[in-house]
Amino acid sequence: MRLTTKTNLAARVLMACAVNEGMTLRTAEIALACNASLNHLLQVVNELQAHGFVETLRGRHGGLRLARPPAQISMGVVFRVFESGAPFAECFAPDTNTCPLSATCRLRGYVARALEAFYHELDMVTLADLTKGNCGLAALLAVPDSLRRACAEASVV
Ligand code: SF4
Repeated sequence: MRLTTKTNLAARVLMACAVNEGMTLRTAEIALACNASLNHLLQVVNELQAHGFVETLRGRHGGLRLARPPAQISMGVVFRVFESGAPFAECFAPDTNTCPLSATCRLRGYVARALEAFYHELDMVTLADLTKGNCGLAALLAVPDSLRRACAEASVV
């Protein structure tokens, strides 16, 4: 099993926002801190905003911040949103499924249950569980003032 890049980036963006809670971050700052492509990150940020995980503020001091406290963001919900476009097995996408075994396959049911167990574990994990008191993560994702100034001067998003 492998998570999509979008899911992975969504988790990184949310962790960066949580570590810097109370600040608005520029997407470029997050991209740098998370070693991610700015273009990929912009798509992910749009989706995070559309689902109410983050909000964006316009203006000179604008940027991105969490729309809810970290303790109210379930990682299971985040994963379900971002993994919904990538069916785990071909038969999980009825419109495009071509597997000839679908009608009688027993594996399908077991895989569906295993997948639900996977999400259930993550349903019980909040963004706060990942970031609160995690000094190592804070050291990696806290946006330093020097980086902030450089991004502001370059007028990047
Ligand atoms: S073999 Fe079974 S689990 Fe795999 S795609 Fe076909 S129906 Fe689904």
